[in-house]
Amino acid sequence: RAKAQHGGGACFYQANMDAAVRERRRLSSALRHALEDGQISLFYQRQVTAGSGRLCGHEALMRWHHPERGWVPPADFIPLAEETGLILPLGEWALRTACADAKAEPRLGKVAVNLSPVQFRQAGLAALVATVLAETGLPARRLELEITESSLMQDPVRTLEVLREIKALGVSVAMDDFGTGHSSLATLRAFSFDKIKLDRSFVPEVDSNPQARAILRAVVGIGRGLGIPVLAEGVESASELACLRDEGCAEMQGYLFGRPAPLTALDLAAPAAAA
Ligand code: C2E
Ligand code: MG
Ligand code: MG
Ligand code: MG
Repeated sequence: RAKAQHGGGACFYQANMDAAVRERRRLSSALRHALEDGQISLFYQRQVTAGSGRLCGHEALMRWHHPERGWVPPADFIPLAEETGLILPLGEWALRTACADAKAEPRLGKVAVNLSPVQFRQAGLAALVATVLAETGLPARRLELEITESSLMQDPVRTLEVLREIKALGVSVAMDDFGTGHSSLATLRAFSFDKIKLDRSFVPEVDSNPQARAILRAVVGIGRGLGIPVLAEGVESASELACLRDEGCAEMQGYLFGRPAPLTALDLAAPAAAA
């Protein structure tokens, strides 16, 4: 649906800009109704231990199915939800739904839920987590919250305080997308994370490229020094798996073990691909 036609005299660039702005406005107004209209759901992707390939948990990943547009990728709607504040109701819904699903289906194991930096700016995040655990009856040890370092950039003192409150509940905290930010190492030093999730951009070529392998080795070494297990994201091949295991990654997640899927479509009984 190209909006090529534009008022006389306006340059092509301006026309494209206007079209992009209008498209964003349309998408955010559609997103406003998506939750109540039942268009938002959670998919789950398995996480396995590196050694035995045993299932240890699942990451909950938000999905939006728009009646006309079809599946809208998280990369398109999560940033929009953050800018508009819609991530607050969406994030709360994801937390509640993931905890309820995990309570109803013990074979999910530990469930990992992504938190947006915006959620840290709202008062009472730790209280919300406590309430959701109480309401759903999920034991705190079965919940993990994933945060990216951008959460810690805005208001580090306050964010660290909230993270401590969350950990005090017995919930674990994972550092997501490790290695992609501006101050990953400083962030690691500021808070004792329970897990480091090595960003999936570091996984391709660990089996063929010495630079990639050296970075992997260094990150695992940092984790070992700090006593924090490293999970590798985006593992797609058996040879990547072999390298990651050799270098000492504790856990893995990726298409090799399973794609994100609705709860009802998960193969919870099947052994992991590389068991
Ligand atoms: P993330 O938290 O780093 O999630 C991992 C992403 O990697 C997911 O993308 C997943 O589908 C993808 N992935 C997993 N294994 C593989 C693989 O083997 N190869 C490749 N190429 N990709 C793989 P997805 O589902 O598109 O989500 C993208 C991002 O959107 C997430 O990155 C997360 O930052 C955000 N997101 C998703 N759900 C939520 C949510 O409920 N709340 C918040 N705040 N953010 C969310
Ligand atoms: Mg994540
Ligand atoms: Mg990640
Ligand atoms: Mg990521």
